[in-house]
Amino acid sequence: MADDVKVKTVEGITRESTQAMIDEALALYPEKGRKKRAPHLAPNDPTACSTCVKSNRKTVPGVMSARGCAYAGAKGVVWGPIRDMAHVSHGPVGCGWYSWGTRRNLMSGRNGVSQFAMQMTSDFQEKDIVYGGDKKLAVLLKEVKELFPLAKGISVLSECPVGLIGDDINAVAKKMSAELDLPVVPCNCEGFRGVSQSLGHHISNDTIRDYVIETRTFTEPAGPYDVALIGDYNIGGDVWSARALLEEIGLNVKATWTGDGELERIAATHQVKLNLIHCYRSMNYMCRVMEEKYGIPWLEFNFFGPTHIAGSLRKIAERFDDRIQENVEKVIARHEVEMKQVVDTYRPRLEGKKVMLYVGGLRPRHTVGAYEDLGMQVVGSGYEFAHSDDYDRTQPEMPDATVIYDDASEAELEHFVSRLKPDLVASGIKEKYVFQKMGLPFRQMHSWDYSGPYHAYQGFPVFARDIDMAINSPTWKLVKAPF
Ligand code: SF4
Repeated sequence: MADDVKVKTVEGITRESTQAMIDEALALYPEKGRKKRAPHLAPNDPTACSTCVKSNRKTVPGVMSARGCAYAGAKGVVWGPIRDMAHVSHGPVGCGWYSWGTRRNLMSGRNGVSQFAMQMTSDFQEKDIVYGGDKKLAVLLKEVKELFPLAKGISVLSECPVGLIGDDINAVAKKMSAELDLPVVPCNCEGFRGVSQSLGHHISNDTIRDYVIETRTFTEPAGPYDVALIGDYNIGGDVWSARALLEEIGLNVKATWTGDGELERIAATHQVKLNLIHCYRSMNYMCRVMEEKYGIPWLEFNFFGPTHIAGSLRKIAERFDDRIQENVEKVIARHEVEMKQVVDTYRPRLEGKKVMLYVGGLRPRHTVGAYEDLGMQVVGSGYEFAHSDDYDRTQPEMPDATVIYDDASEAELEHFVSRLKPDLVASGIKEKYVFQKMGLPFRQMHSWDYSGPYHAYQGFPVFARDIDMAINSPTWKLVKAPF
């Protein structure tokens, strides 16, 4: 991997300066915390063959981590976006309530009729903790079937208490699935499992493997260009723009996992020819299962920014015949004009600006190229819940010696930002107002700040406009009182 890496540098950033900045941040902790956090922070080495930071470890208590839990990874990320299923948050009312409608996985259909972007919960009371919630769950599943007859299935997403009180949601799901003649998928994604959202992804992938895949077939005939779009959650319409582009080059997108997804199409995905995976972190498990079990190859790609889009389209085309390869060149040429216009408009306004990223498990590396297409430099990046294989993929994307942070605490982030003084911080809602109060432009990189899509050719002009709007807003000149 290391040989063909083109090493990028940022003026003024050296390994020594970054290490000194890290040491200052670590000095904020008591000794035990310092020892635990130190391996998670490092200057980047793009040519190293092993990852420079430790990852996927338990968070140090009390440091204000930005992480969520396994339930968030399962319900919020993987299961929730499947539009034609009812997703039940099983446990007390909080988790379902706070995660209701907050992730912008857009859906087609009519809410409450053919799609279910709703908050369904078993709303545990004390008696359910004491006597168990299995009976309540069975009643609830019946009610869901009665009230929402067009739901194609039900997922049961466990919250913390369910796994602690010894309930057997798997038995209830099995029994009720037969009784209701409807897929009922039990997902043991209690928030105390694992160390972050990441195990929730894995558990959900396993439930798709155990309860969903191969239970249906596509009704339309198979073709040589059948693919599935894996690990795109349709944030602000990302699936729609990515799907349109894949179809423009002649591929037939048979299923989307799981943004705007349909249960029966996901269940028939074992019939496609190739799995195209955008979010490696959350869905690599099922790609591997489909490869081992059905011989379906899979390919990672990146639809952020014209450079990566064109590179990815060519990589995808290599897996197909001349027809797709010719289409790809035509499609790239067709969009080149518009992409050039976008770059010509925004690059002069953003050239040389510096950005710091802190997101979940994919975007801290996948969006780097899109900023670079606009002439910007990424001077720090990190993930909430990535594993070492994600950091391996990150090192070559990031400039030499820039700071890499795993499961960064809010104090570390604030420290790095105050030292590096980037022109933009791109992270989540919990960070947004902290940095805006520091007088810094900020873009939300989870929700796209209620904008988007950012994927594919349709997304790049929106991305460029939003970044320009944030950085060059006149607001930032008014932060300091004139007296
Ligand atoms: S940690 Fe437990 S209680 Fe908290 S959101 Fe996750 S499942 Fe709910």
